[in-house]
Amino acid sequence: MENANLLIAIIQNAIDGIITIDDRGKIELINPSACKLFGYTPEEVIGKNISILMPPPDKEVHDEYLERYKRTGQAHIIGIGREVKGLRKDGVIFPFRLGLSEVQYSGRKIYTGFIHDLSKEKEAEERLKDYALHLEELVEERTLSLKETVRALRNAKEEISVTLEKEKELGLLKSRFVSIASHEFRTPLTSVVLSASLIEKYAESFNSSNISKHVNKIKVAVLNLTSILNDFLSLEKIESGKEEANYSNFDLVKFSEEITQEMQLLAKQDQNIVYHHTGAEKIINSDQNLLKNCINNLITNAIKYSGENTLIAFNTEINKDHFHITVKDNGIGIPETDQKHLFEAFFRAHNTGTIPGTGLGLNIVARYTELMNGTINFKSSINQGTLFTITFPKS
Ligand code: ATP
Ligand code: MG
Repeated sequence: MENANLLIAIIQNAIDGIITIDDRGKIELINPSACKLFGYTPEEVIGKNISILMPPPDKEVHDEYLERYKRTGQAHIIGIGREVKGLRKDGVIFPFRLGLSEVQYSGRKIYTGFIHDLSKEKEAEERLKDYALHLEELVEERTLSLKETVRALRNAKEEISVTLEKEKELGLLKSRFVSIASHEFRTPLTSVVLSASLIEKYAESFNSSNISKHVNKIKVAVLNLTSILNDFLSLEKIESGKEEANYSNFDLVKFSEEITQEMQLLAKQDQNIVYHHTGAEKIINSDQNLLKNCINNLITNAIKYSGENTLIAFNTEINKDHFHITVKDNGIGIPETDQKHLFEAFFRAHNTGTIPGTGLGLNIVARYTELMNGTINFKSSINQGTLFTITFPKS
């Protein structure tokens, strides 16, 4: 008795629906979960054929299934279970998993169906399918736009390479022009200086200070022009990769003293270039021409951008791994806003006023320094002077 009560309690409280039918398909028992699933009260279905809970085509053929099973023992669902459709009282069809078993009870056969609602799972499955479909569409869309981008990119690349090719041709043309022009200008300029010297000689007897003044002006102008052309040529050589460093061992102190003497001739009235070396070592390994060009440029700037009666300190130092060269003046300094552009070609600071220059010197210094694996630094503030340092590794 107690077992029977337990069984009833289990059936009544089961989450899944439970329905039993007799061997002709008539419903004998339906638990609350099954009632809820199909939307019927027990009274509405007990005694009715199970096919009322089935949508077509199962509805029409169920009796036949049952008959065949009884005759042949061939089971379609019994003892196997499968996914089927149920028909609710309100006409809605829903999916569920049906587990069907045969029970011998009091000398007759009854069939018990366990009904597990699949609506939620199916809904989720559908939603998942929808998502997958949406995702596929999205991927297709993205792929399409990606293809579009790749195509645009390829077009842009082609355009750029055409432009680049043109640019290269133009660049080559330009540097060839600069090179030829600079070379060709130097010959007539030499003639101009020569003629100026001859005029000076022939005019000696006239003893005219005006003639010598103007002849001198011609000479200075030609010298300036030659120096600019030389800068152009140096740049062109660096630019085209033709410039390379030729290293040799030499005495830095002797080398610097010679430069000091040469540069002193170009200095202003009472402008003194003072050279000093630090360190016991004197021999370095470097490219004399490139290094001289760098130092000349730095000292020329110091002369140009500082006033008369000033001191220009030119120092060299050789220590364990490096040698340093510094040039310090007490001149006009470089405005802070201009400092970041200082090594660009043709750049000149705003405070240069009428002081002549092309803005190429420091660009060449920086490039030569780099060519010799060195670094260039400076410290400067307006009207407080400027200090340039170039540093090179010893080997
Ligand atoms: P050039 O090509 O004849 O040397 P430049 O002297 O004008 O012309 P750079 O030597 O490249 O050109 O110098 C660039 C700019 O840096 C100068 O125009 C000047 O404004 C600033 N500059 C360089 N050295 C000094 C210095 N010692 N004091 C103040 N300003 C300087
Ligand atoms: Mg200069």
